[in-house]
Amino acid sequence: MTVKIRKFIWDITYNCPLRCGHCYSESGRRPARTLDRAAAMRVVDVMLGAQAENVMFSGGEPMSVPWAVEAMKRLHDAGVEVTLFTTGWSMKERSAAALVDSVSGVAVSVDGADAAIHDAVRGRAGAFERGMKALDILHRVKDERRAAGRTCYTLGIDYTLTRPGAEEADLERFVDAAVERFPRLDFIRFGAVIPSGLAAERAFETTGLLTIDELVDMIDVGRRFAARHDGGPRISVTDVRYFLPSPGSSLVDLDILQIEPDGGLRAFPIYEAKIGNVLHEPLEVLWPRAQAWRSDPFVAEQMGKVRTMADWADTTRTLDRRYGSEDDRARIARRGLAMAVPA
Ligand code: SF4
Repeated sequence: MTVKIRKFIWDITYNCPLRCGHCYSESGRRPARTLDRAAAMRVVDVMLGAQAENVMFSGGEPMSVPWAVEAMKRLHDAGVEVTLFTTGWSMKERSAAALVDSVSGVAVSVDGADAAIHDAVRGRAGAFERGMKALDILHRVKDERRAAGRTCYTLGIDYTLTRPGAEEADLERFVDAAVERFPRLDFIRFGAVIPSGLAAERAFETTGLLTIDELVDMIDVGRRFAARHDGGPRISVTDVRYFLPSPGSSLVDLDILQIEPDGGLRAFPIYEAKIGNVLHEPLEVLWPRAQAWRSDPFVAEQMGKVRTMADWADTTRTLDRRYGSEDDRARIARRGLAMAVPA
């Protein structure tokens, strides 16, 4: 029986130039674990075999991986919707041009309205400027293709809302400036930071996480921005509670899987629970294991008890410490040090 999985998130490396205090994967703070090209192409085969419809390339910084564009192109050529999530740190004209035939969409991640906020949230001076420069390059390539009557990727900004980066007035001036500077931008997508990885730690709860009420308010703010820029980029606020069970819905059959840089497979995105490796076992074996983990009474109880963002962070901490590998647990125990971000 062929297992069909609609969506994959593929974190292709833990290498990252940034040091976000909310990093879900602690990238840049641990070995990159990037696969070699041959193994990476086998992972592509696994996703094609699962008839994936949508693959999100993330990291770390995916564009730091030499085979990234080749892997994206193979999926794209097979009709898969491929989205690249990038910090834009090292985006060059040549890479932007290569993306034209390799991806359906590019999302540059920006987490602060200006350099002061963004660079502080992302732990590296110059990050905002690099992100804007990447958007300049990607936007120019898109313009050139458009002028030549040819198709191109959709281009947008993916903005993770942490407490320092979520002031409405800041967001408003950011949206206004982005729409003016990048008139052909296709989307600006905001989403509250999910309590996963470092963002699930107790230290981040009060300083970084939004509350559920603030998240709901942000959805209204997003609607106001969208109305104000009617005819411009699609402006939206993602309701990240999509990743939580809701009355009458179960996560057991939600056909989304997250692959880690070494091919490790998580039982469910967000949590450290590994159920094997796609390079060692077929999805026909791994997917039922993921479903079994998701329906485990302890896991279901932990997920089901979430009412607030703080509850969600608590659930993540509990699940990560219980189901993470020995390495994960050792790394989690060292987090106090990892979170001391260098200036
Ligand atoms: S959240 Fe920040 S540190 Fe983590 S992978 Fe993304 S850009 Fe890098």
